[in-house]
Amino acid sequence: MINILHIEKSSFSMKALERIANNLGHVVYTAEDEDSIFEILEDTSIDLIITSTSISEGIIIELRESEYEDIPILVLTSSDDIHTRKKLFNIGISDYIIKNQMTEEKLKLYLDSFNKAQGLDLNGRHLEIAVLDDSHLSLKVIKRIFNNTTFTNIDYYSNYQDLLDAKKGYTLYLIDLVLPGASGEEVMLQLRKNNPHSVMILMSSVTNFKTISNLLLMGADDFIMKPFDRNFFIARISVHLRTRFLMDDLNKSNEALSKMANCDGLTGLYNHRYIIEKLKAEYDVAKRHNHSLSVVMLDIDFFKKVNDTYGHLVGDEVLIEVSDLLTNYLRNTDIIGRYGGEEFLIVLPKTNLEEAYKTINHVKNIIEQNNFPSINHTLTISGGICEYDGQEISSMIATADANLYKAKNTGRNKIC
Ligand code: GH3
Ligand code: MG
Ligand code: MG
Repeated sequence: MINILHIEKSSFSMKALERIANNLGHVVYTAEDEDSIFEILEDTSIDLIITSTSISEGIIIELRESEYEDIPILVLTSSDDIHTRKKLFNIGISDYIIKNQMTEEKLKLYLDSFNKAQGLDLNGRHLEIAVLDDSHLSLKVIKRIFNNTTFTNIDYYSNYQDLLDAKKGYTLYLIDLVLPGASGEEVMLQLRKNNPHSVMILMSSVTNFKTISNLLLMGADDFIMKPFDRNFFIARISVHLRTRFLMDDLNKSNEALSKMANCDGLTGLYNHRYIIEKLKAEYDVAKRHNHSLSVVMLDIDFFKKVNDTYGHLVGDEVLIEVSDLLTNYLRNTDIIGRYGGEEFLIVLPKTNLEEAYKTINHVKNIIEQNNFPSINHTLTISGGICEYDGQEISSMIATADANLYKAKNTGRNKIC
């Protein structure tokens, strides 16, 4: 719904427009003289002004110079004359439509396109905007521009220190260039330190190209000239946010893709390929810096029996439960992978044999004492450790595996 202020002296034209606009679901306020124009603007949040050329240019100029300067003005005219058209655009009207060509369909098209300038389709996205301007008139104008748009989460600041102290990470910053006590550029650079991916737009009536290009090179994403044109302002912001949202989506799908490529679908642990890759990286670090490094091969005892007794799906549940226990009880620095079936390979950086034994034996004890909800029973695991001692990676894994079999052959539920 759009609130329209119609400035019109002819009651015939007045009624005609009102009927069309009402049919389209919009509200029309009519003003016949200058006083009532400003009365309506005071009382109502007007989105669009429609007037005809019979209204004096003086009123249009007055509107453009008032605090309502950002409300778009559409002129309906009975005669098309290039000079009038040029003059009206120069004093700040937004559009110019020939009256006798004005059908309901045409007005609908116009009002629909007007609606599109209401901002982005945020689609449930969280978006917070900060506006910093020391001029209360500017803040008022910006507030009105954002009125009736899809942008609703906006904080207004007139003091730059308040914005810096707020330490809030906004998606979009609109910063006035000339501020008392600081320049918008300094404020932007301060904010940038903690908000590398926020959209930062500077605003000013400065038209010096050198200043503007400098700001853009220093890290501003854009520059919006004052006085603001409502549609231009919203369109500019929307373009930046659209790009920012695309980047967010891209990062999210990259994360999901790398998770898919590196993690095991059932347990969420690193898969066979990736845990070996991680081991190689830790192996190189240990070799280069002379750090200790241990690997552990873990295997669930008598897991076949779980499958045979409860079925494969319950077996899967148990695998997830064991993985969760490993993740919760191993240290954050330990790297866990599903090596295959019910075997886990664990890489313990900066850990010698003795420390590895203590860590893994602790987890073995926790698993032994755990009642697994899916089978309402306990389980045990066995493990084999190998500490790095100059041998190749494959030899480390083979030793851990040999030690695992030693644990299996000497009674299980133990770490060798
Ligand atoms: P041991 O104590 O000697 O390790 O005996 P075990 O029964 O655990 O060992 P075995 O290697 O004989 O059997 C492992 C079983 O693990 C066989 C296989 O069906 C099962 N298994 C492997 N991967 C999966 C899986 O993804 N889901 C389920 N449910 N079972 C799996
Ligand atoms: Mg087993
Ligand atoms: Mg096995």
